[in-house]
Amino acid sequence: MHERSLVKTLIEQVLEEGRVRGLGRIHEVRLQIGEFSGVEPSLVESAFAEMASESWDTAVRLTVEVVPLTATCLTCSEAFHVESFRFVCPRCGGGNVQVTAGEELRLVSVLAERQTACEGVRP
Ligand SMILES: [Zn+2]
Repeated sequence: MHERSLVKTLIEQVLEEGRVRGLGRIHEVRLQIGEFSGVEPSLVESAFAEMASESWDTAVRLTVEVVPLTATCLTCSEAFHVESFRFVCPRCGGGNVQVTAGEELRLVSVLAERQTACEGVRP
C-alpha cells in the first residue's frame, strides 16, 4: 500500500501545480523511480491508473523512467552500475562506495494543454 500513498501525494502535487501555474488539461505525468527507491514501478502505474480517474475526467498518461542504481568508488573514483545490490567497486574491489543515483522518486514533468511545467519537483 506504500505505492498508493505515494501516488496520492503525486496526484495532489500535480493538481497543485496545475492550479498554481494555471495549466489546462493534463495529458501526461512523467516520473523517475530509482531502482533502489523501494518503489515498484508496476504498482505505481496500476495505482495511478485507478486513482487518476478519480481526479481527472480525461485520461492522463503516466510515464515512468526507471533510474539505474549507480555508485562511485571513494577509493579510485570509478563510477559503476550496482548489480544485484553488491556495493563493491568492480575496478579496485573496495567497498567504500557512495550511491549517486537510483534512490530517487521524482516528479520530472507534467505535460498539459498550455505548457510544460514543474521541472524536478520532489514529491
Ligand atoms: Zn574502486
